[in-house]
Amino acid sequence: MERITWHQYFMAQSHLLALRSTCTRLAVGATIVRDKRIIAGGYNGSIAGGAHCMDEGCYIIDNHCVRTIHAEMNAILQCAKFGVPTEGSEIYVTHFPCLHCCKAIIQSGISAVYYAKDYKNHPYALELFQQANVLVRHVPFDKNVLSLLRHID
Ligand SMILES: [Zn+2]
Ligand SMILES: [Zn+2]
Repeated sequence: MERITWHQYFMAQSHLLALRSTCTRLAVGATIVRDKRIIAGGYNGSIAGGAHCMDEGCYIIDNHCVRTIHAEMNAILQCAKFGVPTEGSEIYVTHFPCLHCCKAIIQSGISAVYYAKDYKNHPYALELFQQANVLVRHVPFDKNVLSLLRHID
């Protein structure tokens, strides 16, 4: 039996979370990890109890859907809500973070970003990550990992 790496394990978790997204524009998932333990997760979705894009349509302003909270933000806010420190933790995301999430990631003290897919990678985000000494690494998700589930019965 094959054993998956930690990178693929956490990346798989983010991809599963992305399947919970309610915004029809982009399904994104994020997992915050400390010492090889998952401390929080998030996906693209509306505020709790709010209308979902998939039911009511997206709310577009300046070509962005403003109805949803981004996966990275949701994961960080979950930590804030329940008092879990994010300093020195790492985040696994399905897509390269937007500028707002980039700043939130830096400000919350997260020290590494592993992303599966390039997505409008903003040069300013890269610059900010570099300035803040946040490790940014492209870790493509190997979907074959999920096919290993067939070994478990
Ligand atoms: Zn939307
Ligand atoms: Zn974002």
